[in-house]
Formats: sequence, structure tokens, C-alpha cells
Amino acid sequence: MRQSDMTSHAPKAAEASVPGQALEENLPDYAPIPPSAFGPPLNELGYHVGSIGENLYWVTDGSYQAMFLTTETGVVVVDAPPTIGHNLLRSIDDVTRSTGKPSTVTHLVYSHAHADHVGASGIFGDDVERVGHVETDRLLKAAGDPNRPTPTTTFDDRYTLDVGGERLELTYHGPNHTADNIFINAPVYGTLFVVDVMYPGWAPFQNLALSTEIPNWVKAHRQIMEYPWTTFLGGHMGRLGTRADGELLVEYVEDLTAHATEAIAAVDPTPYFGKYGPSGNSWAMMKHYWAKVAHEAAQPVIAKYTGRLAGVDASTVENAFTMVTSLMHDGASSRARWGSGREWPGSASSMTASGIRAGGG
Ligand SMILES: [Zn+2]
Repeated sequence: MRQSDMTSHAPKAAEASVPGQALEENLPDYAPIPPSAFGPPLNELGYHVGSIGENLYWVTDGSYQAMFLTTETGVVVVDAPPTIGHNLLRSIDDVTRSTGKPSTVTHLVYSHAHADHVGASGIFGDDVERVGHVETDRLLKAAGDPNRPTPTTTFDDRYTLDVGGERLELTYHGPNHTADNIFINAPVYGTLFVVDVMYPGWAPFQNLALSTEIPNWVKAHRQIMEYPWTTFLGGHMGRLGTRADGELLVEYVEDLTAHATEAIAAVDPTPYFGKYGPSGNSWAMMKHYWAKVAHEAAQPVIAKYTGRLAGVDASTVENAFTMVTSLMHDGASSRARWGSGREWPGSASSMTASGIRAGGG
């Protein structure tokens, strides 16, 4: 077959099959990032180390966060993001040089196994005690990454880490962002560190922080607020969080849930079935139906939070997509429209409404 025959007989390409080059052109503009989303300026080496309380400090590079506690016998570090890397050691030296406390890192706590948060933990060597959840141990054993050594101390539900007169309380509330994500509480300092759930000043990162257990990730917002903290660290971005930041993010997730539920009930699936049903292309049907539902759910949320949460117009359609699919797969609203199992309108095959609900997930 000649080239011209192939092109002339080729069906019209799907709109979504945008060539890679076109994806880089026409990059859209977004609403300005509210100044309140940014934190303190970074030093010439690209980090900021700040005091939270007497012996508790945080470090940021503007995108990631770690925390450390200086004690009478050594330093306890929480997370080691590779983007901060050796600046974590510099931060500890900066602080201990002026306080006279020992600068040796004796303990390292893993918030969860993800490489972007603990991928520099190898720099602390073999002599440090590494504390992590049993699921973190399982995931790191599976990863086999020399930059993320497995924990030397593991726990199931709770672990109290007492070092040199200081204390951290580690609690596992079940899977949320990942199977192993834990809550790290410094009660004396009114400080809670939970990664990849709340991003103070920012809308959640896309697809609800790429989380594996969406109902529990949603629930984790309330669990975070039940702790009596006054300072919150979400592991990301350049500033600390307040109670008002937390309440605003609870509200965002509640609004997203409500609008996703509404959109599932409101969007008419007829056009999607009509277009893709006859050829039996269930994947195309789901792709475009879910995209429409996510779009409808996202618009009122973007309108409400633009100017109040950074990046809301950049992540909310993807967040709505994940919320919609979670509600359909996991939530009570899975029965709201499709539970009857009735035939899809104009059905030309045996695909049913409950069939589309099950989708490819
Ligand atoms: Zn993560």
C-alpha cells in the first residue's frame, strides 16, 4: 500500500492524540501564585533553615521540607529529600554551631518510602538508627535502593522516639497517600509533620497527591486537624502551615467531593456511549466521559479558590478526575446513578451503566 493510500484511508485521529511537539507549544497561562504561598527567602546555597521551637528546626529548598530536633545526645532528622541533600547537613551544622548541641545525626525518621522525600537518607551512613513503619520497610526492601536504606527500627501502630530529652510520637493511621505514610508529632512544640496530604497555601498536588488510598487520604485531613498542633509541615513547598491553612484545605476537599458527586449525577453519558459504544471502545468512552465529569466538578472549585490556594487552576481538573473515579469505585455515590445496572441510553451492545462505572479500574 502506498503512503498516500494509508493516509487517505486513515480514520480521523482522536483529538486527544496530540503529537508530542504540540504539547510543548501553546503552554497555557495560569493565575498568579498568591504571595502568601511563598515562604522565607533561601540563602545563596538554596536553602532556608528556621527554628520552630527551642530545639526543633525545619529546612526547605522551596519545594521540599525536612525537620530536625537537636538533643543532648545527637540530632534526630525527619526525612531527607534529595533536592535538599547535603544542605540538610549544612543546616544542622549551622544550628549546632551556634547552640553548642551535638551535631551528630543519631536517628532518622522516614515519613514514607517515596524517593523524593527520603532519597538522600543514604548520606547519614550506617551508624544512624532509622525508624520507619513496617510498610516502609516492606516497600524499601522491594525498592532495593542504596540511597534509601531500610529501617533499623520498625513499628506497626505507634512508636515513641525518646532521644536526649526530646520526644517524637509516630502514629500510623492506615494507608492514605501511600500504604506507609505516618503522622510525626512533636507535642512539646505543637508541631505535626504529615507528608503529601496537605500543602499549606497550595491546592493538593495533582490527582490528589498521586495517592493510593483516596478515601483514607480524604479522611487524613480530618485526622490531621484532630491533633492540637499550631505548626504544620506537609513536606512540601517553602513555608509552614497554620490551622487556617488546614481548615481551608479541608474545605477544598469537601467542596471537591460535593461537586464531584453532583457532576457524576449530572453529566449525561449518552453522547459518550453514542460515539464509542457501537465500536465497543470502552476505553475511549470512559476517557471522554470521565474527562467531562472531572471538568464539570472542577470548575466551581477553581472559581472559589483561585487567589486563595496556589496552583488551584493547575491541579484541580486532575484532582477532580481522581475524586470522581474514587467516588465511583469506592464511595457511596457509586450507586447514585449507575447502581441500577440499567442499559445505557441507545445501547447497541451489552455494555450497561454499571459496566461503565466499573470502567478500566
Ligand atoms: Zn509521597
